Amino acid sequence: MEVGTKSYCMICKKIISTCDVHECQIKRQVLTDPILVGIVDRLYNFGLEPVMAIYSVNSVGTASDMYHPSIIIQLSTQIKCRILGELPAGWTYGWKDGEVFSLDFNDWCTYIDISEAMTRINTVIKEFEAYLDTRDVESTRAVILLATG
Ligand SMILES: [Zn+2]
Repeated sequence: MEVGTKSYCMICKKIISTCDVHECQIKRQVLTDPILVGIVDRLYNFGLEPVMAIYSVNSVGTASDMYHPSIIIQLSTQIKCRILGELPAGWTYGWKDGEVFSLDFNDWCTYIDISEAMTRINTVIKEFEAYLDTRDVESTRAVILLATG
């Protein structure tokens, strides 16, 4: 089930293998799970450059037989406000020194079955993509430019 993280170029919009000669700046590459590429592309389009986008369905705490879906998207541009407004349920802004450092999803449910947990992750990803699609690209870009300047 686990595909593993890959290096993805946000300019070329493709997964880069280690043997590829790749000319784009390293800054334009993100370490990501391939199923999160849709979110990465949308954030990049807004001017938010993720450096890492990973999901996990690993168990947490003492409930070792349970799967807990979570997603972390780390940004390279730190921003001083909640740039995307109110996030969908389960998503929060990760703060560090008064700046947004990441966008995090933590499910409020755990699952006994790993395939259920993966189905949930895929649903959450599709919902977050749809949420990002509702935002106006030009005005979001403008606000982000101001907030990072
Ligand atoms: Zn490239």
